[in-house]
Amino acid sequence: MNDFTDDELERYARHIVLPQLGGVGQRRLKAASIAIVGAGGIGSAVIPALAGAGIGKLTIIDDGNVDRSNLQRQTIFREDQLGEGKALLAAAYATELNPHVEVRPIDQRLDAATAEELLGGHDLVIDGSDNFATRLTVGDTLTRLRIPLISAAAVMFQGQIGLFRGWEVDKPCYRCFVGDAFDAEDCDTCAEQGVVGALTATVGSFGALMAIRVIAGVGEDSAGKLFLFDGLALDWRKIRLPKNPGCGTCGG
Ligand SMILES: [Zn+2]
Repeated sequence: MNDFTDDELERYARHIVLPQLGGVGQRRLKAASIAIVGAGGIGSAVIPALAGAGIGKLTIIDDGNVDRSNLQRQTIFREDQLGEGKALLAAAYATELNPHVEVRPIDQRLDAATAEELLGGHDLVIDGSDNFATRLTVGDTLTRLRIPLISAAAVMFQGQIGLFRGWEVDKPCYRCFVGDAFDAEDCDTCAEQGVVGALTATVGSFGALMAIRVIAGVGEDSAGKLFLFDGLALDWRKIRLPKNPGCGTCGG
């Protein structure tokens, strides 16, 4: 444990004491580089969880500014930050929580032209963006780059989360799941349909837990399964996602 300072050993004590995680797992977390697409409701749960957990490098990608209607669920932001850029604010939040984490804010729109440059080099990407065009771009790019994707979404009372490694022969990619119908759609579903703030936090925390499992190598592999949360029935469901042999991204 020589590679951890006394401060870090104390900070991560509740991780290191876990037999499944231990010093080996904590070292893997510290060595990891994770990108988070979207500092919204999902990101507001993911960013504190991963910064607190001691992920070595976090990249936060969001080109938006804080709006008052965000504060109901995007709880890393404050009333006195309205109008300021989310990426920089989220990065400052993470650094204040854990100065051992190297945080890189990217105040830039992720699209087909920028995705590969922004996402390349990471060990894992968590997508909590709010539209299908971005989600499909992220999914296609990561399948090509062979980087695992955790895709998390919440709308109204429904949440869904999955881990995707579409380049593997028997694992679906994000496009296998969603299909091709949504490429042109760039709507903010939260704005149109509403979402319970605590739901985005639930789904985001679940995604952060998945990320820690993937990086530390803990628990069974959940790639190819979709986790669905029903906030009205208060019920989690797990379904198997098939790989689509005709998928334009990972099929054939
Ligand atoms: Zn596919």
